[in-house]
Amino acid sequence: MSEEVETSAKVRKGPGLTARFVLAFCGLFLVFGSGVVFTVWESDQRAAEARARLLLDDRALTLAEQMDEALAASDGASAQTAANGLGRRHGMVAVRLVARDGSLLADGEDPDARRIMDRLATGGERFVMEKGLAATTVSSASGRVFVTATSRSLRQGFHGSAALIASVFFGFGALAALIAWFMARSIAQPLRKLTAMADMLRDKNAAQPLDLKTGDELETLARAFNAMAEKVQANMRRLQRMAYSDTATGLPNHERFTRDVTDFLSNRHDEVGALFVVRLDRLDRIFDAIGQDAGDELLTRIVGRLSSAVRAIDRMVRTEHCTARPSQLARLRGGDFGVLTPRFRGQEDAARFAQLLASALNQPFDWREHKLVLGAAIGAALLPQDGADADTAIRHAMLALTAARSDNGRMKFFTKALDREANAQLAFEREMRAALERNEFKAFFQPKVDLLSGRVIGAEALARWVKPDRTMVSPGRFIPAAEENGLIGSISEVILRDACWKAASWAREGFPLSVAINISPLQFADERFTDKILRSMAEAGLSPDRVELEITESVALENPERALRLLEPLREVGVKVSLDDFGCGHSSLASLTRLPFDIIKIDQQFVRALAKDRHAPAIIEMILAMAASLDYTVVAEGIETEQEADFLRRRGCQIGQGFLWGAAMPATEFLQFNAARSGAISGGQRGVA
Ligand code: C2E
Ligand code: MG
Ligand code: MG
Repeated sequence: MSEEVETSAKVRKGPGLTARFVLAFCGLFLVFGSGVVFTVWESDQRAAEARARLLLDDRALTLAEQMDEALAASDGASAQTAANGLGRRHGMVAVRLVARDGSLLADGEDPDARRIMDRLATGGERFVMEKGLAATTVSSASGRVFVTATSRSLRQGFHGSAALIASVFFGFGALAALIAWFMARSIAQPLRKLTAMADMLRDKNAAQPLDLKTGDELETLARAFNAMAEKVQANMRRLQRMAYSDTATGLPNHERFTRDVTDFLSNRHDEVGALFVVRLDRLDRIFDAIGQDAGDELLTRIVGRLSSAVRAIDRMVRTEHCTARPSQLARLRGGDFGVLTPRFRGQEDAARFAQLLASALNQPFDWREHKLVLGAAIGAALLPQDGADADTAIRHAMLALTAARSDNGRMKFFTKALDREANAQLAFEREMRAALERNEFKAFFQPKVDLLSGRVIGAEALARWVKPDRTMVSPGRFIPAAEENGLIGSISEVILRDACWKAASWAREGFPLSVAINISPLQFADERFTDKILRSMAEAGLSPDRVELEITESVALENPERALRLLEPLREVGVKVSLDDFGCGHSSLASLTRLPFDIIKIDQQFVRALAKDRHAPAIIEMILAMAASLDYTVVAEGIETEQEADFLRRRGCQIGQGFLWGAAMPATEFLQFNAARSGAISGGQRGVA
C-alpha cells in the first residue's frame, strides 16, 4: 500500500465530530441566551427605576405635607425636624426644604446629594438618578421639597426576573448540550467504525463486516459499505490469483515463485533448501510446429509430467521431509520452470534430486502419434548458500542453467566461478558498447577468388575490432559475445555502411569488385531491413549488383515467407543473396528451393574434412551437383591448401575463399592484394591459384 496514503487518524487534526457539534451548539446557545438575559435585565432596570421614583415621590409628598402643616402653624423648626427625621430613615441621604419665599428651611450635608438637588432646583427635571443616588422634588402650598436617597435603599424589596431567567436558561442549556453530546456521539461512533474498516481494507486488503443496528441511514450506509468491502476483497483475491499465477498452466508464476523463495529464506531456521531452474529447450520449436490449440493441450500434459516427476523424486530423495513441505513447481516464462525444494538432508540429495529430474524429463514421451523429447537442462542454486535473497538465488540458478546448456550438460550447480564469468561478460559488453561509440569496429575484407582464372572477384566484409593503439580484439572472442548480448545487430550495421562505402570507392578507382556482407538475425528481424540496405547502398553510391548479402539457413528458414518478402525487393534491384555456412543447419533441401537465393557458401567444416574424412568428397560433390541443377553459384570457404582448391575447381566449384589467398585485411591492403594478383595473372600465371 502506498506510503502517501494518509491514515484517517493522521487526517483528523481538529476536534472530533462530537466536540464540534457540542461546541457549535454551546456557541449558538450562548449568543442567543445572552441576548435574552440582556433584554430581561434591561427591562428589570427600567422597572426598578420607576419603582424608585414612586417611592421617592411618596416620601417627598409626605414631607411636603408635614412642611405645609408646620409652616401653617408658623413652625419652621418643626418642619426642619420632620425633614431631619425623614432624612435619617429609609436610606435617605439628604432632604432640602425651601419656603415659598425662597428661604432655606433645611438642607442635607452630602455634597453629591446637594449637587443633584441644585440641578433639580435650577433645571426643569423632576427626577435624577446618578452615581448610586436618586433625587426628586415636589412643590406644595408652602414651598418646595427635595429628597435624595441611595438607589440601593430604593431597590430593597425589588426582585428582578433576569437572574431567575438566566439560571433557568443556562441550566436548560447545559442539559441540551449533554443531549447534543449524546446525539453526536451516536452518529460519530458508527462513522469511526466505518473509517476503521476502510483503513483495514486499504492497509490489509481485509476487513470484518460492520454489524450496525441503528435502524437509520447509518445502518443503510454500513450495509452498503459491507457489500462494497466484500466486492473489493473478492476482486483483490481474483487479482492476486491473476498476478501470481501463470494463465496458461495455472502454476504459480515468476512473481509468486520469487515471493515463495523470499518466504523460505526469511523463515527457514536452519534448513538447507535448493532452487532449480528447468529449461525445456525444444518447447518453443515444438509449439511452433504443432500450432496454438495442440500446443495448449501439450503444455497441460507437460506440466502434468513435470509435477508428477517432482512429486515422485520428492518421495524418493527427500523421504520424511516431502510430506511436511513438498517441492513447489512454478512456471517462470516460456519453457523455463522453477522448483523450490525447501529441505534437504545435504547437498548430495540436492544433486540427486536434480539428476533424477533431468533424466525423467529427457525420457521421450508419447503424445498423439509423436514421440517427444523435451530436452531439459537444469541450473541449481543451494539456499541460502548461493543467494541471500530471492533475486540473487534465481539469477545464480539461471547462470548455472546457462553453463549447463553451453556444456551440453543436463545439470549444473551454481559456483562462484560462474558468477565471476558472468561479471567478466558484463564488463566485456560494457567495453564493446564503448568501442561502438568510439567507432572502433571496422570492415576488413577477405578476398574471394575465381577458382578457374585465379582472379579476385570480390571480398567478404568481416567485422574487426581495432583498438586505438592498433591492437585487435580476436573476432573469435567478440563475435560470439556480441551474438549473445545482441550487440551483433549494431556492429553489423556499422560494417554494412563501412563495406558499402569502401566498395563504392573501389569502383570509383576502377576496380568494380563485389562485396559480401554478413546479415545478423537481429538485423533480419527488423521490419525496416530492406530499406536500411537500400539506403546504405544509395548513401555510399554503390551499385546494388556489386552487393551480396550472406544469410544463414536458420535465419532464412525461420520464416521463409518473411525472407521472401524482405529479400525479393533487393534481388529485383540486383543484390545477390547467399546462403552462408551451407550444410551446418537442419534445413530440408525441399524448403531451400522456396528461398530467394543466388549463391551457396559451402561451410568450411566440409572443406576442412576433405583431408580427414572419406565421406567429405562425396558430400561436397553432392552439394555441387545440387547447386548446378538449381542454378546456384557455389563459393567454398575455408580453403587453406592447394589440394583443397584443386579438388573444388575440378568438381566445378566456381569461387573460393580462405587463408590460401589471405585472411581478412584492411580495405587498402585488399586493393593492393587485388592489384598484385591481377598483375601476376596478366603476367602469365593464369589458372594457377
Ligand atoms: P562467416 O561469415 O562464415 O565468415 C567466415 C569465417 O571464417 C571468418 O571468421 C573468417 O575469418 C574465417 N575464415 C575464412 N577463411 C578461413 C580459412 O581458410 N580457415 C579458417 N580456419 N577460417 C577461415 P570470423 O571473421 O571469425 O567470423 C566468424 C563469423 O562471424 C562469420 O562467419 C560471420 O558469421 C560472423 N561475422 C563476421 N563479421 C560479421 C558481421 O559484420 N556481421 C555479422 N552479422 N556477422 C559477422
Ligand atoms: Mg559469411
Ligand atoms: Mg560462412
